Amino acid sequence: MRLAGAHTHVRRIWTVELRPQAGRPSLWCPHCTVQTPFFQASSARSAALAHLARHARADTLPPHLRTCQCRERGCCWHPRHRGCAGPVLLALTRDRGGRAWRLADTCVACTAATSHTAVVPDTLCSPHPADTRARARQPQTDDEHRQRVREMLSYLASALPCVTSPAARLLALQCVLRAGRNGFAYLPAGLLRGMRLHRRPEVRQELAQGGWLDLPDPRAAGLRGRLLDDVVLDQAWGPSARRRAAHWALRPSPFAATAAAAPSERLAALVLAAHTVPAGPAPDLAAIARLCGHSPQQTGELLDRLVARRILSAWHHQRETDEVRWQPALPPRGAPGAPHKSAH
Ligand SMILES: [Zn+2]
Ligand SMILES: [Zn+2]
Ligand SMILES: [Zn+2]
Repeated sequence: MRLAGAHTHVRRIWTVELRPQAGRPSLWCPHCTVQTPFFQASSARSAALAHLARHARADTLPPHLRTCQCRERGCCWHPRHRGCAGPVLLALTRDRGGRAWRLADTCVACTAATSHTAVVPDTLCSPHPADTRARARQPQTDDEHRQRVREMLSYLASALPCVTSPAARLLALQCVLRAGRNGFAYLPAGLLRGMRLHRRPEVRQELAQGGWLDLPDPRAAGLRGRLLDDVVLDQAWGPSARRRAAHWALRPSPFAATAAAAPSERLAALVLAAHTVPAGPAPDLAAIARLCGHSPQQTGELLDRLVARRILSAWHHQRETDEVRWQPALPPRGAPGAPHKSAH
């Protein structure tokens, strides 16, 4: 057995080419010298990734031995010359105008600078993806998600400048819940689209200007950034539990504002949903307002709007104690927006 020393760099690049065979698109792998036909041109990406991921799984390497393959080739994969930075990820690149696909160990900075490149989740290429999926499926209650989201909202209320907009707060919550232990967060373009924040670079720039997020490429379709304040990630619960809470926060129960609602309404609905605890004490209006990034008076107006949108049926502020209580509106069974258990 040969031990990989500090100067032994293992090549971790796998490629497949698209080659038509008898009129059908197929993939050619120079590693296994096999030509695999597939059915639709649109599935080239998944066919390529499925094949390349098998190679990555077979050639697994401990994380500390993985190096940026882009740098080892003089950073020839991207136009701008920039230093390598961040952890080494598996990046999938559509190459040569779509005629080839490449999977390679690449650092965050190089991945971000390379066009037609996406990060592949580690779970897909880990040697035991089935085990990972089984772990990820461990049942987790809505109450646990609520608690995580409450903790993060409260952290953000203190970490972000008070002028931070509700849209930026929603984005920051996803960043902090999806960040790895190293502080790097990646929000894919599809996720941003679902949040209606994909064509709003100014929202992420707000977080960068507030000194909370380092954004190497603010205009990229997906958001790739590093939390400048990552102390909060040093928690008892790990990244996978946090990610599931991030998923819950996109569609919290027992109620959520639709993606079409204004970000301020979505944030207010999320804050209340996270505080909808059967036996818990009612929160103060001042506390709810702080989490929403508004004054208590503005927050009252926001809660009125949630009633008007039939997300809440009523809310009430007890002036003497400052306690706020609310009643979720229950839409007809099966209707869009009806309370549902998040599926994990
Ligand atoms: Zn192969
Ligand atoms: Zn590079
Ligand atoms: Zn690099």
